[in-house]
Amino acid sequence: MAWFKKGEEEERRGRHDDPKPFEELWVKCKSCNEMIYRKVIERNLQVCPKCNYHFQIPARSRIEFVVDPGSFLEYDADLAPTDPLEFKDSKKYPHRLKESQEVTGHKDAVICGEAKIEGQPVMIGVFEFHFMGGSMGSVVGEKITRLIERAIEKRVGVLIFCASGGARMQEGILSLMQMAKTSAALARLKEARLPYITVLTDPTTGGVSASIAMLGDIIIAEPKAMIGFAGPRVIKDTIRAELPEGFQRAEYLLQHGMIDLIVERKDLRHTLASLLTMLKVDH
Ligand SMILES: [Zn+2]
Repeated sequence: MAWFKKGEEEERRGRHDDPKPFEELWVKCKSCNEMIYRKVIERNLQVCPKCNYHFQIPARSRIEFVVDPGSFLEYDADLAPTDPLEFKDSKKYPHRLKESQEVTGHKDAVICGEAKIEGQPVMIGVFEFHFMGGSMGSVVGEKITRLIERAIEKRVGVLIFCASGGARMQEGILSLMQMAKTSAALARLKEARLPYITVLTDPTTGGVSASIAMLGDIIIAEPKAMIGFAGPRVIKDTIRAELPEGFQRAEYLLQHGMIDLIVERKDLRHTLASLLTMLKVDH
């Protein structure tokens, strides 16, 4: 058994000694399956240079890409979820929350605050997909509702970047309630005649797509983003028919009038600033 143990040990040491393991240097594109040098993607705003697929990025990076430096003021960062249903699947809900909190450094799956984009004030909410798939539980719903209420108070527009698997099943009906709660808040924003812009990133699905994502006055998507309610396999099995090419992708949705614009990440900041200027409200 000695040879086996030695080999195993060498393998382990080799992995630890190598400061740049293969999988960290190269990234496989989810869309075109090409292996791309990580630094090339990083230099390209996390966009695949071969096929223009826009990789999912952390919420903090999105804020940095879009808002004027130093203008972001975060709200409700300490609002933390509880476990009212004492939910347990393969892990207990508090355990999953703790893991996500450690990985992302956030208390829950959305970051909200006020900021300026090319000088235009806006209330901005950004989903963090790395926190339990950007799922919308009570805290996400509450933070977005407060963001909208602040927008009404301050007479500015709302901008939300969506990246979500949908409702947070660990909170059951309390999670589903957030769809109605945030939609009602958006109805009040509309009554106040204030603009609401959404940017749908890959992926925007489930309860988030069925509420705040598709309620934007202007709905923007990143290229090739998957946007839909249920997954394609569920739909295919339900309607018992082949789905069209490009189904649930941003380009298909634009062609069929479900969204207004597809904007590349490099152009997003200026496009958002132009829209906010055009839709500017008189104070
Ligand atoms: Zn690609």
